[in-house]
Amino acid sequence: MNGTPAKRKADSSNKENEPKRKRYERDGHRSVKAVWFKEFEWLGHDNAEQLLFCKLCRETRKKNVFAKGKDASKPKKDDLVKHGKSEDHRNSVEEKALQKNLTTAATNAYVGCKGAVTAQMATLLVQAKEGIPTRKNAPLLELQMFNVSIF
Ligand SMILES: [Zn+2]
Repeated sequence: MNGTPAKRKADSSNKENEPKRKRYERDGHRSVKAVWFKEFEWLGHDNAEQLLFCKLCRETRKKNVFAKGKDASKPKKDDLVKHGKSEDHRNSVEEKALQKNLTTAATNAYVGCKGAVTAQMATLLVQAKEGIPTRKNAPLLELQMFNVSIF
């Protein structure tokens, strides 16, 4: 019994008596934070239009608010968190990953047959220079393949 509970009660009642800040007062303190661009790698900022946007959703031509661009004058981090979890955004992330895989597969396929394509082009060049008809191209390539296989 040292009087502390009574003091606590007085403190909490003072806090309750503080007026709640109105929405426009809270919004006035909002601004785009630099750290958001590290936390949300997909976030972009259009200085001219004062818009926040999602780079991925724009690239994948989605129709959501962040694909169009959201007013950056009263930004809320919660909106960014919600967008990051949205189905539209997750689909954009998946689309970009698939595009990257496709590009890698196409590059690997090209690298795998680059030698054969170069050999065909070189053969056609020699045929053209020597006046050898193009209908002789296939047998010449077959001969080259045979020669490569025996060495
Ligand atoms: Zn997005």
